[in-house]
Formats: sequence, C-alpha cells, structure tokens
Amino acid sequence: MARYSSPKTSDYAPAKKSLGQSFLVDSSIIDKIVECLGDLAGHQVIEIGPGQGALTRPLIDKGADLTVVELDDDLASRLTSEYANNPNFRCLHTDVLDLDISTISSKDALIVGNLPYYISTPIIRRLIHYRTYFRRAVLMLQREVAERIAAEPGNGERGFMTVLVEHYFTVSKEFDVPPAAFRPRPKVWSSIVSLKPRIETIDSDSMLETLVSASFRQKRKTILNNLKASDIDVETILSKAGIEARRRAETLTRDEWIRLCEAFEQEKRA
Ligand code: SAM
Repeated sequence: MARYSSPKTSDYAPAKKSLGQSFLVDSSIIDKIVECLGDLAGHQVIEIGPGQGALTRPLIDKGADLTVVELDDDLASRLTSEYANNPNFRCLHTDVLDLDISTISSKDALIVGNLPYYISTPIIRRLIHYRTYFRRAVLMLQREVAERIAAEPGNGERGFMTVLVEHYFTVSKEFDVPPAAFRPRPKVWSSIVSLKPRIETIDSDSMLETLVSASFRQKRKTILNNLKASDIDVETILSKAGIEARRRAETLTRDEWIRLCEAFEQEKRA
C-alpha cells in the first residue's frame, strides 16, 4: 500500500475553528480514504475543503484530474501556487455551498472531502441536488452524523436526513476515525461514509421533503398524528400506501416512503 507523508503543519497559520479546520495527519487514514475511491488515474475528482493538502497530494499522485474547492484565502492560495504547473489541478477559491457542481463535473466525477462539520448537512443537501453529476462521494463526517445517516428502519436515530439521504443514495459506512488522526484534535470521533447516487428515485423531491419533514415533526408521535391536517384524509392515504397509521416515522422503509409519497401525489391530483 502506498504511504504518503503527513503535511507539514508548522508553517501554516493556526487552524480556524470558524471554518471547521481540523487537518488529517495520520497517513494510514489518508491512505484508507484514498483507497475507498478506487482507481483514480485520469478520473475526475472534486475535493471539498482540501485545507493543507493531506488528501490532495495523494489524489494527485494517483493521477486524478483534480478540482479542489477551498474557502480559506491562505490555504487556497498556497495550493494554487503549489500546483501552478500541474494541468490536472485547479483550485476554486469559493464557498462550496455556492458551487454549481453541474458546471464543473463530467457526471462521472468522484467527490471526496474531510468536510467542515459546521456545514456538513447543507453540503449533503447540495450533493442530493447535484446527485446526477457524480458517481460516488466519500465523505468524512462526525461519527454521530454518519450513524444517523446510516440508521436502519426502526433505529431511533433515524430522522429527516436519514430518509432523504437513503432515498437518493446507497449509503455505506466505511470506517471510524479517532480524534488522534487530526490536528487540532477534535473532541469527537469521525467516520468515513460512501454515498452512491441511486438511479431510481421518485420525481417529486419537494413532496418527499415536505412529507418526511412533517412526519418527523414530533418523533414520539405516530405518523398519522404528525401528518394530520384538517383538509386531507390522512388515514385513507396511509391505508392506500399500506402503512399502519400507528407507526412512527422512524420505522418506515425507503419503499414505504415512496408509496406514501405516491399516495399523497394521487390525492393531490384527485
Ligand atoms: N482536507 C483537509 C484535511 O483533511 O486535512 C482539511 C479538512 S478541514 C476539516 C475542512 C476544510 O474545509 C478546511 O480547509 C476549511 O478551510 C474548508 N472549508 C470550510 N468551509 C468551507 C466552505 N464553505 N467552502 C469550501 N471550503 C470550506
């Protein structure tokens, strides 16, 4: 297995908490993340938040055609000058939440990032939006967030983001990463999660979001009570979808959410 040296952190400005900076310094973890991406030679890779380049360097060494997206002025300018002569590298000095992935991706891109945790949920929502523009994302998340996203039906950790992410992606939790792998050390453990966009998803994104959000409004309530509205016969809709009214949202499977969404759509059209 190839080994990469840790980046030299000493000549950088102190990490900015406000930008969620916590840099990977464990070369075995860096290797494992890069290996999750598979063969990279000639493949387009988009890295979110390259920071001091811990993942960037091995990605380039493996022959990736790499675009990195970094908000920090100093880090973006260092990476830009370090790879100024490399035609397979470009640094977009911008906020990833403003990035239109469709304008830079070949649709077959791989996305990777040790994400700034303060915006991991908005980043994932953006990846949902641009899901047809990449073939896999390998992301470092706070472990609790990763576990919530990967929670199976019936698990109390399941929530709005679990259902959305599972609807649009096949999710696999790859491995956990201890605080000691980073400088500065975070207080929490992290996990690597892989998201593979699903081809078959329902047409009505907004209906799904509205339904899931309303269904989880009060987690201890039944789905019927959370969805009750004066002008719709929710009980009949649930029955058409084959979902028992006393169940809680966290117990519904992906197929059941799809059936429920379709039953609401039918009711809307009726
Ligand atoms: N990839 C590096 C590593 O693993 O050592 C750095 C990871 S650090 C957790 C997150 C990186 O995301 C930082 O470099 C930070 O400056 C950058 N970042 C924070 N907010 C961002 C944003 N809105 N858009 C793009 N990059 C951002």
